[in-house]
This record gives sequence, structure tokens and C-alpha cells, in this order.
Amino acid sequence: MSQQHYNLAGIGAGPFNLSVAALLDKVPDLSFALFDKKRSFNWHAGLMLQGARLQTSWMKDLVTPVDPTSPYSFLKFLVEHGRFYAFINAEQAAISRQEFAQYLEWVTSQLPQIHFDSHVREINYRGGQFWLRFDDRIISADHLCLGTGTQPYVPEYAVTHLGKQVLHGGSVLNSARDFRGRRVAVVGGGQTGAEIFQELINERWGECESVAWVSRRDNFDQLDEAPFTNDLFTPSYVNHFLSLSREQKREVVAKQKLASDGISPSTLKEIYQALYQIKIVQGKDKDYLMLPAREVVGMHKQGTHFQLTVDHHHQTQEVLDADIVIFCTGFKTVIPACLESLADDIQWEGDGLLSMQDNYQVNWTYGNRNRIYAVNASRHHHGIVDPQTSLMAWRSANIVNDLVGYRLYKLDHPGFVQWGIQQRDKQRNVA
Ligand SMILES: Cc1cc2nc3c(=O)[nH]c(=O)nc-3n(C[C@H](O)[C@H](O)[C@H](O)COP(=O)(O)OP(=O)(O)OC[C@H]3O[C@@H](n4cnc5c(N)ncnc54)[C@H](O)[C@@H]3O)c2cc1C
Repeated sequence: MSQQHYNLAGIGAGPFNLSVAALLDKVPDLSFALFDKKRSFNWHAGLMLQGARLQTSWMKDLVTPVDPTSPYSFLKFLVEHGRFYAFINAEQAAISRQEFAQYLEWVTSQLPQIHFDSHVREINYRGGQFWLRFDDRIISADHLCLGTGTQPYVPEYAVTHLGKQVLHGGSVLNSARDFRGRRVAVVGGGQTGAEIFQELINERWGECESVAWVSRRDNFDQLDEAPFTNDLFTPSYVNHFLSLSREQKREVVAKQKLASDGISPSTLKEIYQALYQIKIVQGKDKDYLMLPAREVVGMHKQGTHFQLTVDHHHQTQEVLDADIVIFCTGFKTVIPACLESLADDIQWEGDGLLSMQDNYQVNWTYGNRNRIYAVNASRHHHGIVDPQTSLMAWRSANIVNDLVGYRLYKLDHPGFVQWGIQQRDKQRNVA
């Protein structure tokens, strides 16, 4: 069997590595391939709820911010599918996640370098190259790009209960959803919690006996979409963020929660209007509980249902009975098991976080010769933008420029705000 060798092997073919691949397609003398364990492309299919919308502009697609003439742009997708005029006339403030997934799938179908059904089981480093082991083959590569995404997070106390009655929101559409006559608790006050609460009160999964929505936040807070908040998702801000110390970065990220993790204002309005329609106009006495400022701190099985222990931030503890519990408690960065054999040579920052360079390279023993890049694994280093699509094309361009060793893509986009002292000096010098 002949041995395949690539200059770059990408592990995972989610949007972030897909963006790297789409930009690399312009570099003919660099061989690359992406490998994904899924049988075929899908984007968060377990949460592809009817009406769910992208929280980012469609213009921030895989390529446009750094290469608007790329054949892999969202605009090209619209034209190719005869949707251009209808899309413009639809005047959507935010496009549906379903359409963005169709776009991603279309790009995937055009890049022969993407291989599905290819689970990277193990990566070794030998003889100045990486060796990637799959179930049926081994390939080698000079450099790696880790793009394995994040994993659903549920609190420790819930892990052993996961099953038909206790779910993570990310896989709600993969499970049976006949909730007729059931008491359902949704835990988590972010966008996923909001979308699932909305599905439940609109009875898309049957008429529940009751629906309770618990949020740790003091209210059902909206995503901060103000212009200067959106400036946090620009290269100019990221360049400033990179100059902060580790401690400063941690503090800043904690303060910026609602810039990235709030609920879309349109979703909140739809929920409020639905409650008005159901409870007031239709006069239905529905048991819909909205429970902010509370944290579920434990749960136990009580016969056929669960009892959740809920701490109120300012008052006492309460108990919530539920037949179905849906945890919308987010996703966490998990370093994939295939990296285990390299772990001793990788530098870590504690808490299982990779030690990163500004150019998305992971610090590791042989990094001068064989690079490991990582996407969506450095919120601690690059800030809140890291798990978002906002700067995915810009990040990919950083990686591609670093790989090819010259400025193939333009990266500097000066902003209006002087986030740091150095930036102010730089702009003065330019002027
Ligand atoms: C429901 C949902 C909606 C979102 N909406 C937005 C939004 O509107 N705007 C925004 O900016 N961000 C959004 N995000 C956040 C982020 O943009 C997405 O999570 C995005 O999919 C991250 O891309 P990724 O490529 O890092 O990871 P993923 O999309 O998770 O892809 C990782 C891939 O790696 C593969 N993989 C893992 N391990 C291996 C292995 N060992 N071998 C081979 N393959 C492997 C997986 O099969 C998977 O396909 C959303 C997230 C979710 C969950």
C-alpha cells in the first residue's frame, strides 16, 4: 500500500478547518488534507431547530473577509444555487443556521482534499514527521492543524443521569421528543436554552404539563450587539488582547460574557410575544416558569422523575420536579485523545489548555521544524472571538500566511478604537 504524505493534515472538518482548507486551495504547491470522523458533513445537526438563526453576519463566511473573490464565498453559493435575487429580497437581518449549513456542505463537496469517515485515532511523531493512524490506514504529514471542535458540557452531578430523560441541548434533535404531559426543565440561560424553551412553549414537541427555564444569570440577558461591542470581534482588538498578561486576559474574558454568550434579541422578543399570545390573548393557564438568578446544584432520581436542587442567588434553595431535563450548559474545549502520544512534548497552560503562540501555533518541542496549529482551542490566549465564526477567515489567513512563509492574505484592518497604548503609537507613526 502506498504511503500518503501531506504538507498539512487537518484533524476535523468543521467550519474552522474548512476555512483553512478553502484558503489553502489557492496554494498549488502545498499538499493538504482534512480528516473527519463523521460519515458526511453536517453542522450541529442535533440543534438545527426550525427558525434558528446565525448570530454572526453571513459575510463573515469561510473566506470573504480575507479573500472576497474566492470561489468558496457565501455569495458564490447564492449565485451558484440561483438564490441571489430572492436572498436580497428576503431582507434577513440574520440568515438561518440551516442555510449556513447548506453553504458549508456545498464548500465541502467541492474540496476533494476533505475525507469523511476518517477517525484519527493516534498521532505519533517520528523521523521529522507526524504519523496519523486511522482504523484502516496510516498517513504522514509535515504539519498539523487541530480542528476537532468542542464537546457538550454537563455539570458533574448530571453525567450519570444522561439518557432518554436527561439530555444535553446539543443533541436534542437526535433523541425522541414526545414530551406530551411531561414536566420539562431547561437548564441554562444562553441562546440554546432560549431556543429550546421556545420550541417547548410553542408545543413543537407536544403539550408539556409544565416547562421551567432556569438561568444562572440575573435575568434572561440579550447578546450585546452594540457597534463598539462588535469591535471586540475585529483583528485590531485581537491584536490588543494578545498584548495582555494571562491574568488580565482571564479578567477581560469574564467581563465580556454577554458579547458572545447572550441570547439574540430577536429570540427574546419572540419568546415574550409567544408568552403574551398564549397566556394573555388565548387566556391559557400554562405552567411556564421562568427562573433567573438560580443555579441547579444537584439532582437525584425520585421514582420515575428527577428532583433538581436549585440555589436562588439572593434567597433560599428550592426543589424542582421534572420528568425531562435538558442541559443547555454549553460546550467545553477537549484535547482529542489522538494527541496523547505527543502530550509530553506539548507545552500546557494548566487545566488541559494548550500553550499557544499568537500565530495559532501550539508550543511544542519540535515546533521549529514541524508545526501544530490549533483552531477553536485558545480562548485563553486569543479571547472570546476564538470559538466564534466572526474571525474564522482572518485566523485561517494567519495560519496560511505562516505556513507559506509570506503575506498571501492581507491581515491588517485598523479599527476606530485605540485599545492599547502601542496601537495608539503605531497609528500616530503611520499618520
Ligand atoms: C448550535 C450552535 C450554533 C452556533 N452558532 C454560531 C453562530 O451563529 N455564530 C458563531 O460565530 N458561532 C456559532 N457557534 C459556535 C461555533 O461557530 C461552532 O461551534 C463551530 O461549529 C465551531 O467549528 P469547529 O470547526 O471548531 O468545530 P466543529 O464544528 O465541532 O467540528 C469539529 C469536527 O472535528 C471532528 N473530529 C473530532 N475529533 C476527531 C478525530 N479524532 N478525527 C477526525 N475528526 C474528528 C468532528 O467530527 C467535527 O466534525 C455555534 C455553535 C453551536 C453548537
